[in-house]
Amino acid sequence: MVTVHNLGYPRIGAARELKFVLEKYWRGDAHEQQLQGVASELRQQHWTHQQACDWVPVGDFSLYDQVLDASVMLGNLPARFAHLPPTELATYFAVARGVQGDEAASACGHHGGDAAEMTKWFDTNYHYLVPEVSADTQFSLNSERLLTQLAEAHRLGVRAKPVILGPLTYLWLAKAKDGSDPLALLDRLLPAYQTLLSQLADAGADWVQIDEPILVTELDHNWQHAFSRAYHGLQQRGIRLLLATYFGPLRDNLQLACQLPVAGIHLDAVRGRDDVPRLADWLGDHKVLSLGVVDGRNIWRTDLNATLDWLAPIAEKFSQRLWLAPSCSLLHVPVDADVETDMDREIQGWLAFARQKLAELTLLRHALNHGRDSVAGQLAANASAIRARRESRRVTVAAVQKHFAQVDGSWGQRASAYPQRSEKQAAILALPPFPTTTIGSFPQTADIRKVRKQYKSGALSEQNYRAAMAAAIAEAVSIQEQLGLDVLVHGEAERNDMVEYFGEQLEGFVFSRCGWVQSYGSRCVKPPIIYGDIQRPYPMTVDWIKYAQSLTSKPMKGMLTGPVTMLNWSFVRDDQPRSLTCQQLALAIRAEVQDLERAGIGIIQIDEAALREGLPLRRSEWQGYLNWAVEAFRVAANGVADETQIHTHMCYSEFNDIIGAIAHMDADVITIETSRSHMELLDVFRDFHYPNQIGPGVYDIHSPAIPSAEQMVALITRAAQTIPAERLWVNPDCGLKTRRWEEVLPALRHMVNAAQTLREKA
Ligand code: GLN
Ligand code: ZN
Repeated sequence: MVTVHNLGYPRIGAARELKFVLEKYWRGDAHEQQLQGVASELRQQHWTHQQACDWVPVGDFSLYDQVLDASVMLGNLPARFAHLPPTELATYFAVARGVQGDEAASACGHHGGDAAEMTKWFDTNYHYLVPEVSADTQFSLNSERLLTQLAEAHRLGVRAKPVILGPLTYLWLAKAKDGSDPLALLDRLLPAYQTLLSQLADAGADWVQIDEPILVTELDHNWQHAFSRAYHGLQQRGIRLLLATYFGPLRDNLQLACQLPVAGIHLDAVRGRDDVPRLADWLGDHKVLSLGVVDGRNIWRTDLNATLDWLAPIAEKFSQRLWLAPSCSLLHVPVDADVETDMDREIQGWLAFARQKLAELTLLRHALNHGRDSVAGQLAANASAIRARRESRRVTVAAVQKHFAQVDGSWGQRASAYPQRSEKQAAILALPPFPTTTIGSFPQTADIRKVRKQYKSGALSEQNYRAAMAAAIAEAVSIQEQLGLDVLVHGEAERNDMVEYFGEQLEGFVFSRCGWVQSYGSRCVKPPIIYGDIQRPYPMTVDWIKYAQSLTSKPMKGMLTGPVTMLNWSFVRDDQPRSLTCQQLALAIRAEVQDLERAGIGIIQIDEAALREGLPLRRSEWQGYLNWAVEAFRVAANGVADETQIHTHMCYSEFNDIIGAIAHMDADVITIETSRSHMELLDVFRDFHYPNQIGPGVYDIHSPAIPSAEQMVALITRAAQTIPAERLWVNPDCGLKTRRWEEVLPALRHMVNAAQTLREKA
């Protein structure tokens, strides 16, 4: 008899209930009781959704982040919050969101505490709060949250499998502020885990899922040894550990994983399928083999018949020792595809969100345990959905394939090298030294949002909508002229989101109504879905940019999102390599770039905010990714004449390990985030002899603070010590859409003054 279990469930709620109550609570409009009430209702509801599973995860629910939960449980909060009671909700959110100076001062006589740093959870678009440690970190167990949820689950008759973050992954995610090695803390950490496991045993837990996703990364000897040591210390009477790995194959860690004294191992059998034969051989005669056969990172239906063909011999061999699950926690997919009734019916039929994925698993279980005939009808329905998608002419579009076949190496190549191009561009653009510009968006005021919403719902006519957008653009242009900026932008008033705006106009994309996925805390994103070959039926930005240019004699920068970013922020096809989808996106953007150029736009910016996000988990795979990603950017950008200036923008500050790829993108100008790192990150551009122009952000747009001209002069002066002044631009870190005009106007005024000061000095 095959068992079905789940590793984790989306916690934000199908209607984002958790988001809304959290934000209410933070505004002071809801009591803690109300928040906890909604949380408990959501847990119950989610357990109900999962009731067909033999084992249901408990403790995966979080009010903000599962890694912060682990930090609280292990008694390891950042030192600057040490004066606060560790298990109180106010402390929890203080770590998650930071405390403003006066708030903290009045509350406890201390100065503000910055929120814990946030970073990407492996290669997902989820962000966790980084645990902080130092050489003298001590741990102390607070298991109350987990035990309460376990009791709650037991009361409701849930077959509960507590989920905890493993000790090695916890330390690996941690950052040591004093440069010490977090792994050195293992011996201090293990007793907390030992106590926790014995408490869970006392509370009636049988299986405990212990997540160690770092087993799919490249681990050095120290970490590998630490695994053996740790897990030998975690054996506990009465508790069976299921070691969960996900997001990739185990590969060189497979043998290590098999040797650990645990009761079972979960493998991501979507990305790590090649590991299965070896794992099945090496696992031994007693351990449970849990296979993640349904993709937890994507939203497509599983080909159940093919999966059964593949699983049948494994089920034969392992019998009741075979467990089936999603490849990873379902945190990374939306809740329910059945509510997407607005969507094109055909495409909706190809989708499986969390609920559908669990139904797929129970169907697989049924077929394996009782024979395929017992579920013949459902398997046939699955087969026909799979076939319909494969054969659909909306998925494979002849015209795109034909266009694609024409691409050759020359498409990614500019006519001349940067030195020649930049001379021609300088002659035409005639910009002053330290030219000023912005990254694209201006404040998205309540008015702008309202107009877009009304238009979308049909309450506003196209004509009125366009008039409102034109007015917003005209205002943005006139403000920039008054401020004296050198290269203007249209302000992106018409864009809800930098991917969605383009996706809505391209063929091959579809949008869900409720397909929200948690990004961090209460923040969710609704990733577009790329289902088929990408085609651009008409120009997407040309009218707006042309209009903006008509209002000014200053150069107007055309603003686009790049192919790699569109890919990395979408759910993508699983029927062709990501690289191919990326190339198709590149062709669509290339056509837009060329149309802008034809319309007389001399500067075009192609944002690649998410280039880094696509980096594979294993270093050895980075170069392969960067090769095709950068080539896609080059195809998108480089179909223009030497005179056209290509900009790109990336809002992060880690370039050390990808500087070669960044240089190979060969954008004439790159704008990056630097203001918070005091220009230190420019060193890598200098050391690499990065040849093109750079706009290191001098104004941190994430903060409401308004930097003074002096501060910005100081930053640019620092930058000029690293990068020749004639190759520097002056701009903010990122777009200004989340800021208010009251903040933006003085900040930009100071920025323009700073540039003027520098020009006078030069
Ligand atoms: N052009 C976009 C903007 O200004 C860039 C956003 C981003 O990089 N995240 O909003
Ligand atoms: Zn940015």
